[in-house]
Amino acid sequence: MKKISIIIPAYNEEEAIPHLMKRINKLMDFVDKYEFEILFVNDGSKDKTLDLIKEYRKEDKRINYVDFSRNFGKETAMIAGLDYATGDCAIFLDADLQDPPELIPDMIEYWEKGYDDVYAQRRTRKGESWLKKFTSKMYYRVLQSLTKVEIQKDTGDFRLLDRRCMNALKKMRESQRCSKSMFSWIGYKKKAISYDRDPRIAGKTKWNYGKLINLAIDGITSFTTSPLRLSVYLAIPTFITLIAYFVYVIVKCARLNVVIEAFQAIILLVLFFSGIQIMLFGIVGEYLGRIFNETKNRPIYLVNEYNEEKEMNE
Ligand code: UDP
Ligand code: MG
Repeated sequence: MKKISIIIPAYNEEEAIPHLMKRINKLMDFVDKYEFEILFVNDGSKDKTLDLIKEYRKEDKRINYVDFSRNFGKETAMIAGLDYATGDCAIFLDADLQDPPELIPDMIEYWEKGYDDVYAQRRTRKGESWLKKFTSKMYYRVLQSLTKVEIQKDTGDFRLLDRRCMNALKKMRESQRCSKSMFSWIGYKKKAISYDRDPRIAGKTKWNYGKLINLAIDGITSFTTSPLRLSVYLAIPTFITLIAYFVYVIVKCARLNVVIEAFQAIILLVLFFSGIQIMLFGIVGEYLGRIFNETKNRPIYLVNEYNEEKEMNE
């Protein structure tokens, strides 16, 4: 019998988990041709999330958990899920039921037909502000315009991955992760299925615009070095303008013998170009920061407990 791992990152989800378990149990009763593994990754929750999961595990040993030593973020929780999953394929599922588990049988069907990466594409998103929808749309556009690898539109992390996709992703150990671009990067045979994204069942979203902006910057810089090339594109016209303006100012000064005008212009120029320089330094710094983080070579997460066992980090 083939085994399916459902990976659920959970951060302060005590309110959502009972609803989630009801829906998952229904699913497991319905799809009886497969063995299931439910793998929670408790991402340093401060509420009763872990206790709840342990309760459920007492009744049903198909429920497993990885407990992080602190909050590492959803991206990291996902790779930990892949590390600990034992299935022939894995499905990422949000704990808040924004991704309907009822879609999973369809995903499995396509997997059996030979697709390696079956991802759910949002037709609509209920209960989310227009600003969030708009920014997320723009983000995809920008990311896509910067790279040759095709990025799937309106796609979250809800997807089924074949074992070889799981193994491929496990080889990508960078610490600032952007799964969306990684899913595209690995390639393999992909299939989209559409669904309507539901509002979160209970509890509050863990995202805020600060986190989203960080994710967006990580996404772009981890995926492409084209922002670095921006400096070249910007530098050429500014350099030409600079020379032209200098010639103009010098010629004018020599002719009319005026000083003050040029002095003001120079101040303006200095301000203008130092502005550009600061920006370019920012971009370089961005990449330098990434190199710095990668060269530290730290583990990307630490586990406190896997099922009932303490992790010794050996
Ligand atoms: N999550 C996590 N670690 C975090 C933030 C979120 O594991 O630091 C989990 C969260 O428990 C949920 C999923 O990631 O299962 C999606 O989070 P959320 O619903 O808050 O994000 P949104 O759906 O609003 O984008
Ligand atoms: Mg959510």
